[in-house]
Amino acid sequence: MSIKRNQVVSLSYTLKDPETGQIIDQSTPDQPLQFITGLGHIIPGLENEILKMDKGESKEILVKAEDAYGPVNPEAFQEINRSDLAHIENLEEGMVLYAQDNQGNQIPVKIHKITGDKVTVDLNHPMAGKDLLFNVKITDVRDATQEELAHGHVHGPGGHHH
Ligand SMILES: [Zn+2]
Repeated sequence: MSIKRNQVVSLSYTLKDPETGQIIDQSTPDQPLQFITGLGHIIPGLENEILKMDKGESKEILVKAEDAYGPVNPEAFQEINRSDLAHIENLEEGMVLYAQDNQGNQIPVKIHKITGDKVTVDLNHPMAGKDLLFNVKITDVRDATQEELAHGHVHGPGGHHH
């Protein structure tokens, strides 16, 4: 019996760069990742594989860039004047700044290139164009409650409290 839609899945995971083996992110033992299936809360390439698993199962899942954060978009590179960033100390290539969009979300802005008084910034997701290697273990599966489905998020331990 594998996992279905509208279920709450708890899992522990380690995310590595498949090329270097470097750990990019991991869950902590007392705080598993929880999400409701079928709502697009996690990247599609990962969710599709998790839906084939069962509680207690572990698996290594390689997600190609196009099923993760997508390819690098060349139009997401923008040239701005260096003077617009005059308030940033020690501006250098590779640095990541945070800007706020209209909804108040923090979006990462990477300093791609500095040429004279022009700066090229990269607005791609930091993991765009990267394949991702996950090691996941499904620690719990249960049906989502009506209230959770209505709110679109997980309640209880590790989830929302309100
Ligand atoms: Zn809620």
